[in-house]
Amino acid sequence: MKQKKTGVFWFTNDLRLHDNPALTQAKLLVDELLCVYVIDQPWQSASLYQQPHADRNSRRFLLESLSDLSKSLNKIGQRLIVLESEATAALSNLLKKVDASVVFRSESVGWYENRVWEELKKNRHINFHSVDTRTLFTTNTLPFDLADLPASFTQFKNKVGDLEPSKPIPTLGYLPPAPMVDFPEFKPLATGSKNHAFQGGESQGLEILRDYFSSQKPLSYKEVRNAIDGWDNSCKFSPWLANGCLSVRQVVASLADYEKRNEANESTYWIYFEILWREFFQWYALKNGVKLFSFTGIKNRKPLTSFYAERFQKWVNGTTPYPLVNACMNELRETGYLSNRGRQIVASCFANELSMDWRYGAAYFEQALVDYDVGSNWGNWQYLAGVGADTRDKRRFNLEKQSHQFDPDGRYTRKWGGDKGIQSLDSVDAADWPIG
Ligand SMILES: Cc1cc2nc3c(=O)[nH]c(=O)nc-3n(C[C@H](O)[C@H](O)[C@H](O)COP(=O)(O)OP(=O)(O)OC[C@H]3O[C@@H](n4cnc5c(N)ncnc54)[C@H](O)[C@@H]3O)c2cc1C
Repeated sequence: MKQKKTGVFWFTNDLRLHDNPALTQAKLLVDELLCVYVIDQPWQSASLYQQPHADRNSRRFLLESLSDLSKSLNKIGQRLIVLESEATAALSNLLKKVDASVVFRSESVGWYENRVWEELKKNRHINFHSVDTRTLFTTNTLPFDLADLPASFTQFKNKVGDLEPSKPIPTLGYLPPAPMVDFPEFKPLATGSKNHAFQGGESQGLEILRDYFSSQKPLSYKEVRNAIDGWDNSCKFSPWLANGCLSVRQVVASLADYEKRNEANESTYWIYFEILWREFFQWYALKNGVKLFSFTGIKNRKPLTSFYAERFQKWVNGTTPYPLVNACMNELRETGYLSNRGRQIVASCFANELSMDWRYGAAYFEQALVDYDVGSNWGNWQYLAGVGADTRDKRRFNLEKQSHQFDPDGRYTRKWGGDKGIQSLDSVDAADWPIG
């Protein structure tokens, strides 16, 4: 009798059934499939920068996304196993337990994530398949080798601007059954009333996508995208894209469809332009590996910065001498989201006014953002700190000018209490004497 071929699908940043080429490949190649997600233990403890990797907002978003995925899998006769453990050990045990002969996952651009995969691949009895699901292009369709990735976004855009992105593939309506093995059941969160703007899950992500492209908003995107506040001013796709609840190829296909049904103008093009920034940082992360997290970045340049615990705390808590920065940090802490303009302002303040080592700021963003994405986050921080993909030495935003331009009547600052609790940057001087 032919032996059943058992596979494991390791869900990572691809929490969806629509346009999931990795899961589709798994469906075609095995008789039984175990679907698993691992909440990696180190991810829950302190990082190198003495900060947790995720706070309440991002963890909530993840659990909502897993709940939604679990329900969708149940509907097609499958189930999701969720393990909270150290990833390499948890997956190795699981592979043994189900006697898997093949493992699938989506390609990852993160250096730490890839280390787990490389560890697992040491098992010579198992086949490993990793498929591009996170990007518009693939290593095969990019018009250059990864090693030759252009040094700046503009050069990248010029090279890929006319390239046709991969098309989304159909939503999975069937998967091979799960093997009969005992694992604790994952209990999806109850679908209660939605009391926050960013609710995780593929269903929610697709609804956000549909709503956006059923509106007039894309037609004026370019004029308002830079605003510091306002739900309607930008797409708000990032949390779903980051967790893979939304496929970027689906977003671009919906954009193209919108342009056909309505019109293509500078604003609709600009949505694609911004998505290309994301694309650039995915390949940038993959190419630069561990350098993405290095103080000297990809330029081997040492910024004149350090770590000051008190300044860091004031920045996180929104009690710096800069009301607009405080407002942004309060919004980020409360909601897990901040506009692109807000991110640029607080990151510039961190590296310049506060003279702080940029990596601590990036690590805080990693913990606080519901849309945390390894390439976009660390790539943008490097860019602003002057050690990344920028032809300029560094970016310094004039805080007063930014306040006048983006919050002229102070409404945003008041809304997020940026003018409350203002403190001087330091409470002691260099000789440790109290200031003031
Ligand atoms: C210091 C700093 C850290 C950041 N960290 C992240 C992060 O961890 N995750 C993340 O998704 N984005 C990050 N960004 C980029 C950007 O701020 C967010 O993607 C954007 O604000 C999300 O809102 P939106 O979905 O409404 O995007 P829109 O402004 O409407 O843009 C549409 C999409 O384009 C992409 N995009 C836009 N701008 C950028 C950019 N500069 N870099 C990469 N992709 C971009 C995103 O996928 C976004 O969803 C960061 C920017 C800065 C300055």
